Amino acid sequence: MTNAGLILRLIEEAAQASDWRSSCADSERLPIFNLWGPVMYLTPAGEVVIDHEEDRPTRLADPAERDFALVRAAEKYPELAHLQPPRPPAAATCNLCSGRGRITVSQGKILPWQDGRGFKLCLYCPECNSLGWTLAI
Ligand SMILES: [Zn+2]
Repeated sequence: MTNAGLILRLIEEAAQASDWRSSCADSERLPIFNLWGPVMYLTPAGEVVIDHEEDRPTRLADPAERDFALVRAAEKYPELAHLQPPRPPAAATCNLCSGRGRITVSQGKILPWQDGRGFKLCLYCPECNSLGWTLAI
């Protein structure tokens, strides 16, 4: 199945979803991530767009937003995992999140995300756009 065919099938499924996605359903775009208002969508052509921003028209995601959105898409829709940016051989594991893509804050310190017990504040890593790696420049 082509990416476009796959995305169109997922769009149909998302419209029936029991979570926030059904309220953001759109026949031409797949809801990926809800930023408490603005919504990131993936189009069948493979573009990431952001809509429902206050006073702004729909726009294309910038490169960092696109990386973030494609990692979220892979989490939400495992069939789309191949769209994630591939880790280049020269990439370094992100120092801030130790490759987890998420961080937490404990006693005023930023720590890599740990799976485990209890509620913890979970933040997406701003250093690597939650990819878990960065390119040394
Ligand atoms: Zn990171």
